Formats: sequence, structure tokens, C-alpha cells
Amino acid sequence: MRLRNITGSKEMIAESDYVIHEPEKHKGRWHERFGNERPIRIEIGMGKGRFIMDLARSNPDINYVGIEKYSSVLLRGIQKMEEDPLPNLFFIRMEAEEITSVFDRDEVDRIYLNFSDPWPKDRHAKRRLPSREFLKRYDEILIPEGVIEFKTDNHDLFRFALEELEPAGWRLQQMTEDLHHDPEMMQGNVMTEYEERFSSMGNPIYKYIISRQRA
Ligand code: SAH
Repeated sequence: MRLRNITGSKEMIAESDYVIHEPEKHKGRWHERFGNERPIRIEIGMGKGRFIMDLARSNPDINYVGIEKYSSVLLRGIQKMEEDPLPNLFFIRMEAEEITSVFDRDEVDRIYLNFSDPWPKDRHAKRRLPSREFLKRYDEILIPEGVIEFKTDNHDLFRFALEELEPAGWRLQQMTEDLHHDPEMMQGNVMTEYEERFSSMGNPIYKYIISRQRA
């Protein structure tokens, strides 16, 4: 039963026009794919896609790409797109470690990381999406003044993410340890699925916005 479900979602993804199937072929040519020169913003680990779909709907002048490694989750985003198609949004099913084979230097304007997997074991630190290893990859695709916005309710992951900044050549632009009670950073906040779940349980939400030290 389970296998059948997984096969079903892989097939549905393979047939979907909302998914970019060979993303490496678009490296350096994403603006052509969108048919305009507008900024490109990506969410890595988009889950079911609520956040990126809300952003794409309210910002038609910006292009978005949502990245997710699991078919079963991505499928939910595709189903929502079928009900409410958004011309400025595509999905990619991929592992984020491959990000530099998909986007070229200066091709991305902003990166969103929302409620990334914590990988609590020390030996898995490199897999954490705000780790220095990943910051190096983001450095290769973001425009010089590009920013990364990261939200989580995981205190340990947030502390780790802060410690990674300086050694990796990034600096804080803005930071809060309680987003939902920070009127300035809360302005225009777009909730994610996990954010709604964890904030309704009373968990504070941490957020940073970072840029390169030299920017
Ligand atoms: N951003 C969503 C989902 C958070 S859960 C929200 O805030 O509601 C984290 C998601 O990231 C999961 O769907 C997981 O499959 C995806 N993910 C984690 N590591 C990833 C990686 N290395 N590459 C691509 N997706 C990843």
C-alpha cells in the first residue's frame, strides 16, 4: 500500500507542468524559463508549499522556485497549484546539496529556509541547511547583495546557525528570538505550515536575515 502511494506521487510529479524535471539544464537560464528578468527567490525545503505559494500569489512581479526532496510532500504543493495556478512559481524535487548544479552565480536574489530539519547529532551538522557548508553553496548562487531569511522554532538549530555566520563570511542584518512578538520583523510575515503549528503550541519563533560580510 505504502509503495503504491509513493509510486503514485512520483508519477504525478513526472507528469506535472509545475515541476522542472531536469533543473540542471536551466542553470544560468532561469530568467529565460520564467520569460522575464525579474528577481528569482527560492525556498529550500518548502514542504507542502504554503509559504512559497502565498508569496508568489501576493508578489506577481517576483519569480519563485520551491525546492523539496520528498515526492510525497511535494505532491501536495502540486495539487494546490492545480487548483490555483501561479505563473511565477515552479517546483523542483531535489536534494539541496545539489543546488549549485541548478543555479548559476548571481542567479538567485533571496533564499528562504523555513523550519529546516535540525539534524541534532554533531556528526550530521553538515546536513543542516544553515551550516557553513550550505552557506558556501548559497554564496555561489546569490547576487552580492542577496539575503537569506531563516525561521525555526528550534533553539539549538538557531544557535548553531548564528555561530556559523562569521566563519562562513556572513553577517546578521536582523534577528529576533520571538518573531511573533517583534512588531518590526513581524511586518509582512508570511506564515509557514510548521510556523502555524509550532507557534500555536506556544513555541517562540526565531528568525534571522543575513547577508555577506562584504556586502
Ligand atoms: N518549510 C516548510 C516545511 C518545513 S519541514 C514549513 O515551514 O512548513 C522541512 C522540509 O524540508 C521537509 O519537507 C523536508 O523534506 C525538506 N528538506 C529537508 N532537507 C532537505 C534537503 N536537503 N533538500 C531538500 N529538501 C529538504
